[in-house]
Formats: sequence, structure tokens, C-alpha cells
Amino acid sequence: MSLRDPFKLELARRHLLDKKVCRNCGATNPLGAVKCRKCRSKNLRLKRKKAKGR
Ligand SMILES: [Zn+2]
Repeated sequence: MSLRDPFKLELARRHLLDKKVCRNCGATNPLGAVKCRKCRSKNLRLKRKKAKGR
């Protein structure tokens, strides 16, 4: 699979960024996660890169 396609690259990048990080243990969880898969804490935050203009 090639990542030359800009659209796919953007999609992959967005997918990588849209994760949730547990504030308790630092594990990354899927975006739809409600609880941390490691420690089951509900203390999750969104992992997002700083976007320009916002
Ligand atoms: Zn955790």
C-alpha cells in the first residue's frame, strides 16, 4: 500500500491523531473509548496536534 495519495495520507494522519490518551497511565485508546483499556480509568483526553488558526 502506498501513501503517496495525499488524501490517504491526510486520512491516515487524522486517524493517528484522533486518539484518546489516558491521564492516569498514559495509554492510548481508540477514539470511541469511554474507559482506558489498561487501567479502566475514565480520565481520558483527546490527543490532538495543535492546529493552525485555532
Ligand atoms: Zn489508563
